[in-house]
Amino acid sequence: MRRGGGCCGPDAAGALASDHRGGARRMPAGSHGRGAASGGAGGERAGTAGALAATALPGARSRARRRGAALRRHRPRARRRGPNRARAGDGARARAVRVGRGPRRLPRRADDRDHAARLRAPLRAAAMKRTADVVVVGGGVIGCAIARELARRGVRTIVVERGEVGGEATRAAAGMVAPQAESTGPGPLLRLGIASRARYAEWTESLGAESGIDVEYRTDGIVYVALTAADARVLAARARWQRAAGLRVERLRDARRLVRALTRRVRMALHFPDDHRVNNERLVTALAVAARRAGAEVMERTPVTAVRARRGKVEGVDTGAGSIDAPVVVDAAGAWAGALGLPPGVSPPPVFPVRGQIIVLRGGLDAIPRPLYSRRGYVVPRVDGRVLAGSTLEDAGYEKRVTAGAAADILAAACAMAPAVGGMTLETAYAGLRPATPDHRPIIGPAPGVAGLLYATGHYRSGILLAPITAQAIADLVVDGRTALPLAGMSPGRFVRRRRR
Ligand SMILES: Cc1cc2nc3c(=O)[nH]c(=O)nc-3n(C[C@H](O)[C@H](O)[C@H](O)COP(=O)(O)OP(=O)(O)OC[C@H]3O[C@@H](n4cnc5c(N)ncnc54)[C@H](O)[C@@H]3O)c2cc1C
Repeated sequence: MRRGGGCCGPDAAGALASDHRGGARRMPAGSHGRGAASGGAGGERAGTAGALAATALPGARSRARRRGAALRRHRPRARRRGPNRARAGDGARARAVRVGRGPRRLPRRADDRDHAARLRAPLRAAAMKRTADVVVVGGGVIGCAIARELARRGVRTIVVERGEVGGEATRAAAGMVAPQAESTGPGPLLRLGIASRARYAEWTESLGAESGIDVEYRTDGIVYVALTAADARVLAARARWQRAAGLRVERLRDARRLVRALTRRVRMALHFPDDHRVNNERLVTALAVAARRAGAEVMERTPVTAVRARRGKVEGVDTGAGSIDAPVVVDAAGAWAGALGLPPGVSPPPVFPVRGQIIVLRGGLDAIPRPLYSRRGYVVPRVDGRVLAGSTLEDAGYEKRVTAGAAADILAAACAMAPAVGGMTLETAYAGLRPATPDHRPIIGPAPGVAGLLYATGHYRSGILLAPITAQAIADLVVDGRTALPLAGMSPGRFVRRRRR
């Protein structure tokens, strides 16, 4: 790992060697970060009935059936503020609001004071002690997607978020639903990504109906260009193996027909028509709103300080606002998933932060109507006229600073692809911390060593893409004790076994 803050494209981590003294160590291509280990234990079965017997919730399936009937009757409520203004914390003066019942309001008249006092006592007690079937730690895209899926299946779910819903890696993302453009080779991660992408259209459609929020899912594909002979060779190889795997890849003779702003210096251009995009900021808000409307509670500004267990079984969590009793806890705390206070003897998931920076531009959208990638960076148009340029892969610990050097590299890579970017207005810049793992694959499934604890973390560069399938898999494991989804190679056990060798 070298020091620096270089810009990177989807597969060019560390491609540039410049040193910006940004205080961050940039991760060279192929680096697996801390504790790197090659390969990974693909092929292990995730979530057999035996292993999960203690996790599956008795009664959840019948509740799920009742809930299913209720959902079929469900109609989205009239919106008071319109889709653009809806926010996950709307109307919530207390930390948690149970959608469906609404916040409890105290009477205002002075002669109602006794009645008000009587109401306050149980409210205070409720703030101290709660119960749920499942507590989800972390309100990013993964935690919110899981909560919404569990609530739809009739599972009493509470999401506990330390800050604000989606406030970390999720809102910093570029919103690509792009397993093909992001992939450097076939394997279990690509399989999982393709399976998740296949769910996206239906998932976002039902999410829109449940939340009243348009998540701006767009299916116009991604254009990937090579500006050098070396990059063209890499791209040609990618097209070959993806076609051999049955995936659609189109070689573009005149890429400027799809992206007018593209430079004339293109050596080779591919179109991935099945790779899509979504507005990740609206997505996470919609997930939280839909989760609440399906009956989940979402507690913001409430840190989880410990996961409690007794005699090898999870009993709940301690939070900054009291404890919550629950037989199942899902650790979806992103880059902080390994720092949760876990029960003694339980191995924390080996997750670490990898910083990514984004520059937000405005203007010239008609010339860049769809995402444009090279091995050194990308530009992604948003429906509201913004254009996101990214990004970096940096080992900077938990520091979310935007650095001048990285910004310069990102803009240079964007301008090399589309010179018109140089004339756009620079609106803002931000950074987020991707939850990475040593083999760059997520950790999804039951934690070894204690019954009732599940991990859903380590989604690294693909958390937006993998949210639908992760939510479905975790809900399957909780409700049925097993899942038929392609989780091979993602189980928490792969790291435990490796350490014991
Ligand atoms: C610059 C950038 C671009 C990206 N682009 C894409 C893309 O185009 N496509 C894609 O698929 N992915 C992309 N990603 C990756 C994606 O953003 C992540 O994989 C995804 O957001 C991870 O979601 P998460 O919910 O696991 O983590 P987070 O969004 O980080 O959420 C975890 C949450 O847990 C909370 N938390 C932590 N500790 C506690 C605690 N003790 N108690 C309570 N709450 C706690 C945090 O506050 C946080 O809100 C990008 C990431 C970055 C940084």
